[in-house]
Amino acid sequence: MNLEQYIAIVPDYPKPGISFKDITPLMNNGDAYKYATDQIVAYAKDKQIDLIVGPEARGFIIGCPVAYSLGIGFAPVRKEGKLPRETVKVSYGLEYGSDVLTIHKDAIQPGQRVLITDDLLATGGTIEATIQLVEQLGGVVAGIAFLIELSYLEGRKKLQGYDIMTLMNY
Ligand code: 5GP
Repeated sequence: MNLEQYIAIVPDYPKPGISFKDITPLMNNGDAYKYATDQIVAYAKDKQIDLIVGPEARGFIIGCPVAYSLGIGFAPVRKEGKLPRETVKVSYGLEYGSDVLTIHKDAIQPGQRVLITDDLLATGGTIEATIQLVEQLGGVVAGIAFLIELSYLEGRKKLQGYDIMTLMNY
């Protein structure tokens, strides 16, 4: 399936010079959403994944159906102040801005094999921070799955040594 047809490219959003890749048409189409999910499930199948971890908010959209399909759990990574119980945190740089990400301290058991999911790899800052959170809790990052990679931003350079899959490239 050609998934690119379900990505809307929005110039100058959220600010001038950014070419935003909007994934909502893909989510809106049941066949496309299922196909994309199934591709990530297939990637995860031979990796003995115990848990999916994804950053808010679009990491949930990608990761939760994969977790459901594999019959495993999902742990949310959220901006500071959003998770109600004890967390660990890390600050990170974005394609536009900087922020703090957190995860519940009891979300991952040491040694658990984790698949990280997000919609899009840009500079890699979000996922680099997510990896740090997983590893702080003793999790093993067994794979990272994205719908989209913006290759020209070279986010992979931050993620060297990790197993990465992407479904679309710009
Ligand atoms: P990075 O941290 O790799 O620079 O940025 C990736 C994060 O920002 C992802 O969580 C992603 O949701 C968001 N993001 C940045 N640019 C885009 C974009 O063009 N489209 C979408 N859907 N998300 C983006």
